[in-house]
Amino acid sequence: MNNVFYNQTLGILGGGQLARMLSLAAANLGIKTHIFCPETDSPAFDVSASHIVAEYSDIQSLQLFASKVDVVTFEFENVPTATLEHLHSMHVYPCAKALAITQDRMVEKTFMAGLELETAPFAQISTVSDLQKALETIGTPSILKTRRMGYDGKGQAKILSKSEASSAFASIGEQPAILEGFIKFQREISVIVARNRDGETTTYDVCENDHRDHILFRTTVPACIASDTATKAQAAALKIIEALDYVGVMAVEMFVVNEGKNERLVMNEIAPRVHNSGHWTIEGAKTSQFEQHLRCVMGLPLGSTRARGIIEMNNLLGEDMHRLPELVAMPDAYLHIYGKKHAVKGRKMGHVTFVK
Ligand code: AMP
Repeated sequence: MNNVFYNQTLGILGGGQLARMLSLAAANLGIKTHIFCPETDSPAFDVSASHIVAEYSDIQSLQLFASKVDVVTFEFENVPTATLEHLHSMHVYPCAKALAITQDRMVEKTFMAGLELETAPFAQISTVSDLQKALETIGTPSILKTRRMGYDGKGQAKILSKSEASSAFASIGEQPAILEGFIKFQREISVIVARNRDGETTTYDVCENDHRDHILFRTTVPACIASDTATKAQAAALKIIEALDYVGVMAVEMFVVNEGKNERLVMNEIAPRVHNSGHWTIEGAKTSQFEQHLRCVMGLPLGSTRARGIIEMNNLLGEDMHRLPELVAMPDAYLHIYGKKHAVKGRKMGHVTFVK
């Protein structure tokens, strides 16, 4: 075990709210963070020891960054693979292989199907004619998604009839894509799972996620599902993290489909990082997902994931900021504000957690 971790510096690629909450957790363990990101005025700068503002392709700045840190991690999955290659002599967790699989929806779905986990039916789309053919087998409704760089519903088009093939492909910029059959799910859940450098693993209680306009609105824990479904969801997440040889915290998002009294799990996507649906763990679990991620990447034993009660976490978007006086006056509300200057509609500005 690494017993001098408290003198170490963790480099984080990305400076948003996830890096901010990682930095706050790091400070509690006496670990300093050094942030690398292209945006000036990033939320993590307020709470980290130091930062560099540079593009991810700026090799000189990356080398300078590498010389100042002991371990590197990242807060978003779209870190260019070339950036990680420049850091190959460093301890980088999670590894580039896991990132490469999860950056491409087609590779990711193929990987999960290869583990014999159920996914939506899917097909690779490079041209309109691929799409027309795939619509014959997958049918409608279905969802066309860009293979790369999509998040919060961006780069996606729902297709209701075969005649919409060309307009749907045009609407996602005719980029390499994946067509997925539409899953008529009852619930969306996620499992936050962790694996440390020694291969120890753990999961948190299953989270139930309510999205509005494709953005996470509320997470409740435990999810309202049968206990054997929860066990299967956790087992699926553990199978994925092991198969990726992954070090760190990640989230696996899944659909729950009710068939009579039975619940079926359909895998949707893997987020190779701490995740919005795990923010409740800051007050709602014995070890937060942020501290757990640090424990994983710094070579420490895992902390307890036990929940402290029944939890509800609500995101605060730009349009919710008028509620701050009301929320700050609620004695039981754990309020987190990310320090972003401009409260733009749909922008994640903070979150609030209740533990009952
Ligand atoms: P994603 O970017 O893949 O997480 O998709 C964003 C949201 O779109 C999900 O949280 C679901 O609500 C919905 N969605 C994505 N894929 C499917 C699917 N195959 N069937 C039904 N709904 C989906």
